[in-house]
Amino acid sequence: MIVCKFGGSSVADANQIKKVQSILMSDERRQVAVVSAPGKRNKDDDKITDLLYQCNDLVRKGQSCRQVFNVIAKRFSEIARALGVEEKDFAGKLDEIRYQIDAGRGADYAASRGEYLSAYIISKFLKWEFIDAADVVVINSDSTVNEATYAKLAERIENGKHYVIPGFYGETEQGVLKTFTRGGSDITGAIVSRALSAELYENWTDVSGIYRADPRVVENASVIPAMSYKEVRELSDVGASVFHEEAIAPIYHIGIPINIKNTNKPEDKGTMIVPDPGVTGLSGVSVRTGLSMINLRKLMLFKKSGMRHALLTMLHIFGIRPCYSLFGIDSIVWFFESKMASDSVCASMCERLKKEYELDSIEVDRGYAIMGITGTVDAIGKGCLDAVTALAENGIEIVSVNMGASDTSALIGIREEDSQKALKAVYDKLFG
Ligand code: ASP
Repeated sequence: MIVCKFGGSSVADANQIKKVQSILMSDERRQVAVVSAPGKRNKDDDKITDLLYQCNDLVRKGQSCRQVFNVIAKRFSEIARALGVEEKDFAGKLDEIRYQIDAGRGADYAASRGEYLSAYIISKFLKWEFIDAADVVVINSDSTVNEATYAKLAERIENGKHYVIPGFYGETEQGVLKTFTRGGSDITGAIVSRALSAELYENWTDVSGIYRADPRVVENASVIPAMSYKEVRELSDVGASVFHEEAIAPIYHIGIPINIKNTNKPEDKGTMIVPDPGVTGLSGVSVRTGLSMINLRKLMLFKKSGMRHALLTMLHIFGIRPCYSLFGIDSIVWFFESKMASDSVCASMCERLKKEYELDSIEVDRGYAIMGITGTVDAIGKGCLDAVTALAENGIEIVSVNMGASDTSALIGIREEDSQKALKAVYDKLFG
């Protein structure tokens, strides 16, 4: 059995959904489709999920969401009409959803309705059975998958039958609707693949696989034919956005292969993600922008046990969760997403930490990016060296280099404003 997940662009309008239909019909092993909410039809368009979050925000501020909701309703009605799905089937659902959003059911409920309606309409169109993710996907309070999910799905799905399941959401053990983080339909696809011991998890999107570098910046970037689970996680973490980095977890220990495919060019082979692709070398380079850097110094910093833990707890209190760290004998550098804390929050945090832990100094600096290079163990050292050389040759400031923590990636800190130039220079050196 093959589980297919179709992303927002693949279900953005009726035309795209017809492509989905022909993909599903062209291989009888494709028995389960996991779908996203309709995404953008063009670059100026809105994603349904964004509009649903907007509705919830308006309600929270005590304003009406009617206007925005009408845009959502119109979009679904157009899709349904063009697919020959009778509007009366889901008109009641739209009314109920608006009522619930107005009543303040919250962000997760609102956001989940995009996937819910999308899957419902597609199931009617395909004449495949609809399964509500709320009945089969159990999500823990920390947004991880509850193990009970696998038995529920396996019990619910019969071999030989066909199903459409909405991605992105499930229910907590207490029966409250909960979403994964953005892009989380990839996670649902992985969960369903594991529950059904699928032979393949196909992830259908609008590009022909994972590129060695963002093709919007590096025009001649090539597609990675095959890469390991580990590499894809590392590459997603540093900004490659094709596949959700948490979606590897459900199948990591099972070994189900994942194929990233293009709905608009189904004949392209795409990227295969497997536990071990059996090839050596570098796979890709990516840059994660929008980071800030905390630089903290104190003589004999680590002499006092529990110091690092105490400092991190304090950062969490100020809403800062660092994503990358570096440690020196008397200093710590933490990178975090800039949007986590405003300038005034950062200033209060620095003041409090300095006083409470008698630091010699602490500063927060904005405008950083982390470049990640991924590849196999034997290639990553030379890859890192070549990347550093390329940056130096192009006069790009190197803020940090970290090759220690993972054997399949190297992380290089740079200034955000250099990120595009850096990506081009490093791509050319490593893959050009
Ligand atoms: N629709 C959700 C989002 O836009 C989830 C997904 O597409 O995977 O993030």
